[in-house]
Amino acid sequence: MPAHAFRRTKIIFTLGPATESEEMLEKLIRAGADIVRLNMAHASHDSTRLVIRRIRAVSKRADRDVAIMMDIKGPEIRTGDLTVPLELKAGEIFDFTVKPGMAAGEGGSGEEIRSVDVNYQNLVNDIKVGDTVLVDNGLLRLEVLTKDEARIRCRVLIPGELRSRRHINLPGVKVNLPAFTEKDRGDATVGLEEGIDFLALSFVREAKDVELLRIFLGEKKSKVRIVAKIEDQSAIANLGEIIEACDGLMVARGDLGIECPFEELPVIQRRAVRACLAQGRPVIVATHMLESMISQPVPTRAEITDVANAVYEQADCVMLSGETTIGRYPLECVRMLDTIARRIELEETPDKSFPAVFTGERMKVLHAAVVLANELPRSRLLTFTRHGFMAQGLALLRPARSPILAFTPSPEVFRQLRLLRAVEPFLMTLAADPDDTIESAIGLLRREDRIAVGDKIVIATDILAHDRLVDSVQLRTVR
Ligand code: PGA
Ligand code: MN
Repeated sequence: MPAHAFRRTKIIFTLGPATESEEMLEKLIRAGADIVRLNMAHASHDSTRLVIRRIRAVSKRADRDVAIMMDIKGPEIRTGDLTVPLELKAGEIFDFTVKPGMAAGEGGSGEEIRSVDVNYQNLVNDIKVGDTVLVDNGLLRLEVLTKDEARIRCRVLIPGELRSRRHINLPGVKVNLPAFTEKDRGDATVGLEEGIDFLALSFVREAKDVELLRIFLGEKKSKVRIVAKIEDQSAIANLGEIIEACDGLMVARGDLGIECPFEELPVIQRRAVRACLAQGRPVIVATHMLESMISQPVPTRAEITDVANAVYEQADCVMLSGETTIGRYPLECVRMLDTIARRIELEETPDKSFPAVFTGERMKVLHAAVVLANELPRSRLLTFTRHGFMAQGLALLRPARSPILAFTPSPEVFRQLRLLRAVEPFLMTLAADPDDTIESAIGLLRREDRIAVGDKIVIATDILAHDRLVDSVQLRTVR
C-alpha cells in the first residue's frame, strides 16, 4: 500500500433530501465518507430514528461502519412562520415581535409597519438600540431603532426576501438563551436510544455549555463524544476553555462568518486548528467548502484551495453541509474532497514547531513511536486501543506518512475513531496475551493485502510485564 493510497483527512457529510435514500447513502459510504451528520434543525424524531437505522443497515451492506454525528441546535433564534414571503425594502421600518400573535401595524405611527414573530421572548432585553440583526445567513441586515417589551423596531439596511423560520444572527450580542434547550434534550435522547456516536452542540459560548451536555450524558450513562461548535464571538473569547471541555471542536464557519468580521474568519480557523492540536483535541473545518457544487459539478478554484488549506493546517476532518443536503452533486462532492485531500497530503512535511502536548509518560512513549515511524519508509503504526486513547495520542502527534492502524474490541470506539486524522480503525477481539493480539492483527492485515513481506510495523501498545502493564514501542518487520 503506497502512502497516498490512504487518506488521512476524514470526510463528514450532512444528510438531507439529496442523500437520505439508501442508494445514495451507499454510494457516499463506499466513496469513503467517514461520518454522517444529522442536522436536528430540520428533522422529526421519527424520521431521525428511521434514518439512523438506515445508515447502520447500509454501512453493514457496504462493510464500512461509518459514525453518526447528531447536531443539536442549542440557543438558536429563528423567525416565525409567514403565510407568504415578505419582500423587505431598503429603508423600510420593520418589527420583530416577541409576543406571539402581535398583529402587524400596531406601531401607532399611522403607516403600516410589517412584522414577524421571533421564537425568543427575552430578545428585547438582550439587544440594544444600534445593534445589528442579520437574517437568513446574513442575506438581510437590519439596525435596531427602538424597542419595547413586545417588539424590536428596526430599519432595513440590506433588503431582500424574508421567508418562514429563518435563522437570526446578532453579532456581538450576548444572548441569554440556555445552551442546552428542551428541544436539544429531546433530540439527544432519541440519538442516544438509537446509538449515535457524536453529539455536536451548536453555538457553544463557554466551557459551561459543554459541561451541561456532559452532565446530561453522565445521567444517561452514555459514552457519546461531544463536539463543540464554535460559531460566535463569545466562543472565540473562550476558545481555550471550550477546547479543554470538549472531545472535539467544529469550526462552524457558516455562522462564524456572520457573527465575526469576515476578515477574522481565516485567522480564527487557523488559530482554532492550532489550539486543538496543542490541546489534544480533534478538529473539524466546516461549511462552504464546496458550496458552488450545490448546483455545479465542479468546484471553484478558490474552493479547491480552501479544502487544501484545511488539509495543510492538519485538521482532522472536512465537512459538507448544503452540498450534500440539497445539492445536485453529493457524490461528486465526497469524491472531490477525497481527491484533494489525498493530493495535498503528499505535500505535507512534518511540522517541527509542532506544539502538541507531551505531558504524561504515555504521550512521550507514543512520540517515540511516531519518531520511529517517520524515520522508516513505508512503515505503519499499529496500536491496540480499548477506549481510543492510544489511537488519539498517535493521531495528535500527526505522523508524517504512516497510517495509524488502530485495533479495538469495541464497536463504539471503532466508530469514534473515524473522527481522527490518519487513524484507520479495525474491529478485533484482543487476546489475553498481547503477543497473540499482535499476531492476529498482522495476520488480518496480511489477508487484506494491507501489508506485505518486508514492511516495517511500529507497534505502540501496553504489554504485560509480569503483573503490570507497561507502555511499549516495538519495531517488527513483516515476514
Ligand atoms: P450549521 O452549523 O450548519 O448547523 O449552521 C455549521 C456552521 O454554522 O458553519
Ligand atoms: Mn451554525
